[in-house]
Amino acid sequence: MALSGVEIFKLLPKTNCKKCGFPTCLAFAMKLAQRQATLDACPDVSEEAKKVLGEASAPPVRPITFGSGEKAVKMGEETVLFRHEKKFVNPNAFVLEIRDTEEDATVEAKIDAVLNSEINRVGQLLRIDGICITNESGDGGKLGAVAEKVATKAPEVPVIVNTESPEAAEAALKHFTGKGAILYGVTEGNAEKMAEVAKAHKATVGVKAEGLEALSALTEKVKGLGVEDMVIDGGARRAGEILEQNTLIRRAAIKKSFKALGYPVINFAQREDGMYEALVAGLGVCKYGSIVVVSSAEKWKNLALFTLRQNIYTDPQVPMQVEQKIYRIGEPTADSPLIITTNFSLTYFIVSGEIENAKVPAWLAVMDCEGLSVLTAWAAGKFTGAKIANFIKESGIEEEVSHRELIIPGYVAILSGTIEEKLEGWKVTVGPREANAIPNFLKQKVA
Ligand code: SF4
Repeated sequence: MALSGVEIFKLLPKTNCKKCGFPTCLAFAMKLAQRQATLDACPDVSEEAKKVLGEASAPPVRPITFGSGEKAVKMGEETVLFRHEKKFVNPNAFVLEIRDTEEDATVEAKIDAVLNSEINRVGQLLRIDGICITNESGDGGKLGAVAEKVATKAPEVPVIVNTESPEAAEAALKHFTGKGAILYGVTEGNAEKMAEVAKAHKATVGVKAEGLEALSALTEKVKGLGVEDMVIDGGARRAGEILEQNTLIRRAAIKKSFKALGYPVINFAQREDGMYEALVAGLGVCKYGSIVVVSSAEKWKNLALFTLRQNIYTDPQVPMQVEQKIYRIGEPTADSPLIITTNFSLTYFIVSGEIENAKVPAWLAVMDCEGLSVLTAWAAGKFTGAKIANFIKESGIEEEVSHRELIIPGYVAILSGTIEEKLEGWKVTVGPREANAIPNFLKQKVA
């Protein structure tokens, strides 16, 4: 059960030393209670208090890592019901199902679809994150053969082994030992044996029951068998049931601190009709699914689902931004033009896209303005003559270019005097106000 701010305060040192960054222990306690601070910020807290508070301040949805290495996916750790309260923490994983009854060619094509699913959207790499190997045949040998193929062809892709048979689980899971696989299909009837197989291969357990009462009883049982890492499924398959069950699970974990349901949720969205499948998968993305299993990975569906996920899991209070640095567009030389803009993602992608359209290699200086667009950054005092001059001096671009000419956006023409004053030896040229005029501007410049 979560502790109140006052209960937490009673366990703190009460010296008001401010080392945690808060003016008093009480202020820190209040932030801890709201999950807006972590206990490790106080260096003087006693071991006893750590024990009590550690349990109470653990995230209500247990953190789980699915897979290993660069393609590992973190899930859980969510602390709120609504995105406007606080950013959702870990984006859901999309997982493509491969059934062990499918033809070899289909299995190969599905593995390729996962490996080739990656796209770059506004600076983020998005992909189908994993593969779910389903034991539809009931034959452990067949499941093991598909598992071996996946392990050989896509060794870095996180895997779910989906079976209720401990023998089939062993045949498949042995190919993913220590690789953060999930063994899904643990039920009331097979829990003991499946827990043993999962522990032997260091796998997370996927617990499956009909209804939330049975599910919470089962997670407690599995925990009693020495398995801490679980993903859970209360049996919902229809869209309305998924919405209701996912919401009840998240509510129980966050509002009631009900540990038995405090695990990431797995949703199965597979449908014959691809459009309907995309809709159900989208529901899982919007409403608390941590893993969403789909039956196919067509590019149109991937794009729609990736875009939805990316938007649900961005922080609505923080604009999307790119890294501050000097970007090379094309293969610029020492004579190539140097253009400056701000680090709002959309601004960067529009400006860099128009420079590419011009087919004129250029240097694009992107300045950190906390993700604001040019005019907003200027109005907020973040894109000023003095700041631009400092950025250019410190960026190292003076060693890359032989000229000393900086092209600024037309909307901030007013800054040209200050920049020339602060940036000795440089000439400022006012570029177009709108990005779509950049190609003509650049072509004329280098003509
Ligand atoms: S660091 Fe610890 S003791 Fe110091 S003010 Fe913060 S909570 Fe209190």
